[in-house]
Amino acid sequence: MAANYYPHDEEWEVDEWLSSYDLSGHVEDVSSNLPFDIVTLAAAILVIIGLVIGLGNVIRDTDQQTLKRPSNSQEANEPKEQVPLPQPPPPALTNPTAIVAPYDQYILTQGVHGLSYGHMAIDIAAGKGITIKSPITGIASEYYFDAIGNPTLVIENEFYRVTLLHGNYTIGVGDKLNIGDPVGTEGNLGNTRDMQGRSCRGRDCGYHTHLNVFDKQAGTNINPLDVIGD
Ligand SMILES: [Zn+2]
Repeated sequence: MAANYYPHDEEWEVDEWLSSYDLSGHVEDVSSNLPFDIVTLAAAILVIIGLVIGLGNVIRDTDQQTLKRPSNSQEANEPKEQVPLPQPPPPALTNPTAIVAPYDQYILTQGVHGLSYGHMAIDIAAGKGITIKSPITGIASEYYFDAIGNPTLVIENEFYRVTLLHGNYTIGVGDKLNIGDPVGTEGNLGNTRDMQGRSCRGRDCGYHTHLNVFDKQAGTNINPLDVIGD
């Protein structure tokens, strides 16, 4: 036993030194029954445990602070007032109010006409067989040949009802269309005429698209040139 290596009086000195401190009753009891070195060892272990627990708490706190620090500093760097970031304009595909010409490039072959039968429209031409594109995102609601043989395609959404005539349309009623989707090619079907006003039925002339735009919000036909640009 290690206690045997210590002189008796020295052992008591240390014991008195121990009991001069406000140790717990448990330690006092142990000291009265067990050799000094065991008591010292136990006390030292308690102190070490205490230190470890205390240090652990400090480390944990420090860790938490360390973990919190980036967000704290980030918050500190943020401006006090929330400045909204500039938002890009919504893509035309998802904007129901968007309307474009059915061609990338075209010429106006006849200005607003058809008022006499309530069908304010323009005639535009891009060339025989050129792809015709949907002017709006919507649904093909009608496709028929009218009384004088004009193939008539109607595409609409909650804002516009667009009517196209004379083309070789390749879509069907109920088809959902995104703006710019191909709907057919430029033709001369129906009542089309050449520059001299002669009918182009069965002849290789008069290719164009007759375009009408009905504004559902306004409840009236509008000049297509006002919305599709030129
Ligand atoms: Zn026309």
